[in-house]
Amino acid sequence: MSTIETERRGNVARIWLNRPKQHNAQNEEMIYALDAAFAEATADDDVRVIVLAGRGRSFSSGHDLSRTVGGTSEADIAELRKTTEGRLHHERTSYFDKCLAIRNCPKPTIAQVHGHCIAAGLMLACMCDLIIAGESAKFSNPVVRMGAIGVEVFVEPWEVGVRKAKEMLFLGDVLTAEDAKHLGLANRVYPDEDLDREVDHLAERISKLPPMAARLTKESFNATLQTMGQLASWHSHFMIHQVGHATDEYQQIISPANTGDLKAFLERRDAAH
Ligand code: ZN
Repeated sequence: MSTIETERRGNVARIWLNRPKQHNAQNEEMIYALDAAFAEATADDDVRVIVLAGRGRSFSSGHDLSRTVGGTSEADIAELRKTTEGRLHHERTSYFDKCLAIRNCPKPTIAQVHGHCIAAGLMLACMCDLIIAGESAKFSNPVVRMGAIGVEVFVEPWEVGVRKAKEMLFLGDVLTAEDAKHLGLANRVYPDEDLDREVDHLAERISKLPPMAARLTKESFNATLQTMGQLASWHSHFMIHQVGHATDEYQQIISPANTGDLKAFLERRDAAH
């Protein structure tokens, strides 16, 4: 089964995260397939809008931790991540650069979010221009509980403001779809059963814009964020995040002895809070 599925609906490309049993936890295969799917949709002149959605019960539960802390499902990556240098290289090429490629996609993008949208799932959704949520959507980033300094791209201060972002990271609590809309993280909320149709409708409307005007409008938004220092902030966060991974504190928390049983580890992590 492919980790990514693509579909065309008129001038809209739909990209589906497709590891439903794992709540679309992002493994290496999925990250690279997603990158290729975005590149293909970007190169296709008939595609005017790109929708990113998740198969199954969730948008994405984040990076697939079973390969980065606990297990060895992608053994070469686990091996690479054993050194600070290897982890930095992996996170820059697979996480940071791949996310920014989506953020910099020249066509309008929509994240269609339902169910879990956790940590790197939230990071991924935030790379899109609009976030349209189903009522079941639950947004959170609880990784500070496990010693990590947020995720690789520091989206929260830019999405919900610094005060609320601090609350999100220090407490790790879940934001409901309505919370997310109230904070401006989600644009709109629809019942889950209507979500697909409503997103199609919005995407179709955007697809009717003169394509160069849509592109240049997006470029101007990205340039505005750039002028506000977003990229410099993200680069500095990325390096602080790497220091976090290299600390003895983090290394002890994610040691095989502590994370060998990943489910029990995550339960312990969340029970303490
Ligand atoms: Zn990391």
